[in-house]
Amino acid sequence: MKKTDRSQWSLNTKLNHPKRIMPREDNPSTVAPIYQSVKFSVSPDVNYHDQFIYTRISNPTLQQLEILLAEIQKREECIVFGSGIAAITNALLGVLEAGDHMISFRELYKPARVFIKETLPRFGISSTLLKLSEIDRLEQAIIPGKTKLIHFESPSNPNLEIADVQKIIDVARKHKVLVSMDGTFGGLHQHTQFDIDIVIQSLTKYANGHGDVLAGSVSGKASALKRIKHMSIALGATLDPHAAYLIERGLKTYKLRYERQTQNAQIIAKFLATHPKVKRVYYPGLIEHRGHDLAKKQMSDMGAMLAFEIEPSVGTADEFCHRLNLIQFAVSLGSTETLIASTHFFFGDDLSSEDKKEMGINLHSLRLSVGIEEPEDVILDLKSVLE
Ligand SMILES: *Cc1c(COP(=O)(O)O)cnc(C)c1O
Repeated sequence: MKKTDRSQWSLNTKLNHPKRIMPREDNPSTVAPIYQSVKFSVSPDVNYHDQFIYTRISNPTLQQLEILLAEIQKREECIVFGSGIAAITNALLGVLEAGDHMISFRELYKPARVFIKETLPRFGISSTLLKLSEIDRLEQAIIPGKTKLIHFESPSNPNLEIADVQKIIDVARKHKVLVSMDGTFGGLHQHTQFDIDIVIQSLTKYANGHGDVLAGSVSGKASALKRIKHMSIALGATLDPHAAYLIERGLKTYKLRYERQTQNAQIIAKFLATHPKVKRVYYPGLIEHRGHDLAKKQMSDMGAMLAFEIEPSVGTADEFCHRLNLIQFAVSLGSTETLIASTHFFFGDDLSSEDKKEMGINLHSLRLSVGIEEPEDVILDLKSVLE
C-alpha cells in the first residue's frame, strides 16, 4: 500500500484504502478520536508486545478510558469490559482456580450471587456466603490454604447495606487473601482510601449516566490485574471502542450529575421517611439507617440509591410502580432520570424466604435510583400514588 502508486489503483482498491489524515502532534482534536478499528498495521521497528495489534487485546480508545478510570479511582491499573457482569466474572475467573475457595455475602447483585453459587462450582471453585451483618464470622469462614478471595459489595443491592470495608481488608491481609469490592452503588469517586486489590464497577450506571451503554471495569493492583487481563483476552468480553467513547463522554458530567442526584436522594428519602404510608426507608444518609455511622466514616457522600417499603394498604410494589407517571418502572440505575423497581422479583428470586425476610425484600419493597430532575416533581409523583 505504501510502495505502489495510488493514482494507478482502480476504484475498488481506492475505496478500500482511503487516504488517512493524521493531525500534527501540536494540532490535536480537542476530543480524542474513536479508534473504531479491530486491527492495527504492525510496525517492523517496534517489539510486537509494545504495539496495538488487535482490539480484543488492546485499543487506544479503550486504553485512554482505562488510564482515566485508574486515575480517578486512585488505582494502579484498569481493564474495561463489555458489561459490569463481565468485569465481575473475569475478575473471579482470573484470580481463582479449581480447588480454591472464596467468601462472599448474600447481600450481592443477584447475577453475581448466582454466578458464585451456581457457575463457579462447575469449575471446582467453592464459596461461603455470609450475611453482611455477621462480619465477625468472616475470619472463621477462611479455610487456610484454600480461601483465596473475599468479594463484597457496598452499599449493597438492593437495600443499601454498608460493609465494614476496613474490617474485611484487615482479615484478608492477616490471612493473605485477596479482596475484591463491587463499588457500583457508591460510584467511582468513593472508597478510594481503602487498600482494595480489585475494584469492580458497572460503568453502565453512574459513569455512563445516560442509560445507553453497557460497560464495566476492574481496577486495582497490577499483580492481580495481570491475571485478570489474561482471562479477559481469553474470554473476549471486550468493550467496543465506540461504547468506550460514550463512557468517556458521560464521565465529563459525572461529578455534576452525582452531586445533584445525591442532593435529590436526601430530599426524597426524608419525604418518604416521614410519610405515613411508608413503612421503612433504606438510605445511608438517614440517621435511622443501620449503616449510617459506618457510611459516614467511609463514604464521602451518601449516594443516590434508596429503597423503601410501602404499607400493604397501598397495594403491592408492582402495582405501585405501574401507577407512577413520571418515574419509570425499570431496572438499572445511575441514569439522569429517576427509576423504580420492585425488589422481590428483580433482585431476590434466588434467595430463600428466610433470607428475603431478613433482608427486607418482600412484595411491598422497592428500589429507587434518583435522577437529576427537580425533586419536587418526583415527590409529587410518589405522593400521588401513596395517597
Ligand atoms: C448493574 C450492576 C452490575 C452489573 O453491571 P452490568 O453493566 O449491568 O452488567 C454489577 N454490580 C452491581 C452492583 C450492579 O448494580
